[in-house]
Amino acid sequence: MPPAEGSLPVPVWQGSHPAYRVLFPSPLACGCKRFAKPTTWRCRVCKRTLPFDNDHFTTDRHNIHGLKWDCKDCDRKSCREYGRRLRHEVLMHYGNGHPACACCGEDNVVFLCLDHINNDGKQDRQKWGPGVGFYLMLKRQGFPGHLQILCYNCNMGRALLGRCPHHPSW
Ligand SMILES: [Zn+2]
Ligand SMILES: [Zn+2]
Ligand SMILES: [Zn+2]
Repeated sequence: MPPAEGSLPVPVWQGSHPAYRVLFPSPLACGCKRFAKPTTWRCRVCKRTLPFDNDHFTTDRHNIHGLKWDCKDCDRKSCREYGRRLRHEVLMHYGNGHPACACCGEDNVVFLCLDHINNDGKQDRQKWGPGVGFYLMLKRQGFPGHLQILCYNCNMGRALLGRCPHHPSW
């Protein structure tokens, strides 16, 4: 039985109040229609109305229904966009506003990547994963200085030979 009005904290679903969670273990347990899971949902981004299920919407444990409000396609798109922006930001930082390969001078950002100066990339990759997670970690840690920008060719040379063939002295 729900307690008298006024004795409940305001239900804020994202990070809901612990006291409220005891009373209603699931937001749906109160039987309130307002929080019942809809069968279809209109994506906020592409405005398509789709079945509100795991096939059409990405999982999101912070949402009361466990699904995001944006459809899978739009979510994927925005994730990719985010990754691209983050990568650009990291490259801009390490390249001081003009990212270019430290070896051959290639400055097309498409060809650039980050190289671990001390060849300790393996443990970083194990820890942070190969992609966006790594860039995010760099940003959060304030861009640690053990990295330099190389193009993929020069990076490959370093990976296979320990030095880029452009620069026999490295
Ligand atoms: Zn959409
Ligand atoms: Zn290069
Ligand atoms: Zn090179």
